[in-house]
Amino acid sequence: MATRVLESRFEHLSVNDENEPNENGKYQKSKMTSTTTVTSSQLSQSTNRANLLKIALNNQNTTSTIVTVPSQTAQWRGSRTQNGSPSRRENSGSGQEIEESMRVERKSTTMYEQPAPPKQFHLGMFEIGRPLGKGKFGRVYLVRERSSNFVCALKVLHKNELKHGDAEKQVRREIEIQSNLRHPNILRLFGHFHDSKRIFLILEFAGKGELYKHLRRENRFPEWKAAQYVAQMAAALKYCHKKHIMHRDIKPENILLGIHGEVKLSDFGWSVHAPSNRRNTLCGTLDYLPPEMLKPGRDKNTYSNKVDLWSLGVLTYEFLVGEAPFEDSPVMTQRKIARGEMTVPSFVSAEARDLIKKLLVLDPEKRISLDGVQEHPWIIKYCVKGERATMRESKSIESKSKGKHSSEE
Ligand code: ATP
Ligand code: MG
Repeated sequence: MATRVLESRFEHLSVNDENEPNENGKYQKSKMTSTTTVTSSQLSQSTNRANLLKIALNNQNTTSTIVTVPSQTAQWRGSRTQNGSPSRRENSGSGQEIEESMRVERKSTTMYEQPAPPKQFHLGMFEIGRPLGKGKFGRVYLVRERSSNFVCALKVLHKNELKHGDAEKQVRREIEIQSNLRHPNILRLFGHFHDSKRIFLILEFAGKGELYKHLRRENRFPEWKAAQYVAQMAAALKYCHKKHIMHRDIKPENILLGIHGEVKLSDFGWSVHAPSNRRNTLCGTLDYLPPEMLKPGRDKNTYSNKVDLWSLGVLTYEFLVGEAPFEDSPVMTQRKIARGEMTVPSFVSAEARDLIKKLLVLDPEKRISLDGVQEHPWIIKYCVKGERATMRESKSIESKSKGKHSSEE
């Protein structure tokens, strides 16, 4: 029943799909009636996983997705202009920024010699499955790309809601940044397309969902698990920082888990102007804010990627304790953060406490580095296995990309 409702919803969507090729603007109904529901259990089938990797690698090793991004961004701008409602901010150079960044990217993706033709994504390419969740500006669905059986998540954002929420810039940022990141602990953004009303983001499917939900369910994580998550977060952040990207919105709500329980950092680009999410309304996003971003009179742009280290400290604490270290009323939280005032409960091991204290240091320059985190005794103690698993994963991706067959467990 639910599938039927979904199908009819997407029937409507597909009629408006402006990126559909060869269809005179219409998508054949018969195609949608043959839609089958994609379920999580299907993901465990190795064929799907292999396909998923195959397409991921395809996208990774060619410029196809990258080449389409600037033009699609331009189309998006164009369609808004046709609607007669372009905002001045929107047309003032952010497209140029994207094109600039893409130019850089094109130069740097010369690892493989066989460029694929630019790939135009459109809704008809996907079988729509169950809803995975609802965000501030739209819904996320489990989908499967028809020709390859590639299972992924499709995030549907409504342009008018984005406009009202003043969030267009953040979505651009999310697209711009996330589509250029390739790391086993960062959620992949494979591509995007749009119609007159919506923007669709094709995302890697994170099979185990939100880490936040797991934490609430378990109350707090055992040290081995917390350490493995922290190690994976450190790896993801190290990769980002190397690319001069700071996440600025690290918190359990923005971390998804892959099918094997591995960390998938997501929600890039939302942090600067819209620190969104449940926590904003329920508990206040202040919890993860570093002291240097709190200081009055300080230029917001002067903080460095060390902000992510502070947030990693808050995250480590919350994993182990079940609540954030500075949780209080908004005024008190700010005061506590500014003073670095917190206590680590006695059930937390001395090693973990040591790492938390080295991350939650008021002076950004004195915080332990990400290398330091990875080499910290608490991480070493629990993470040899976790790190190997991560390494194994990237090795398997590498060997696949060289055309070898790789058997996943
Ligand atoms: P925001 O709009 O601030 O990003 P949000 O993170 O709650 O809020 P979405 O990113 O739109 O919203 O995601 C909504 C929900 O859908 C998530 O909370 C998560 O449960 C689920 N979800 C999103 N992306 C994926 C994905 N790639 N794989 C699996 N589930 C996902
Ligand atoms: Mg999100």
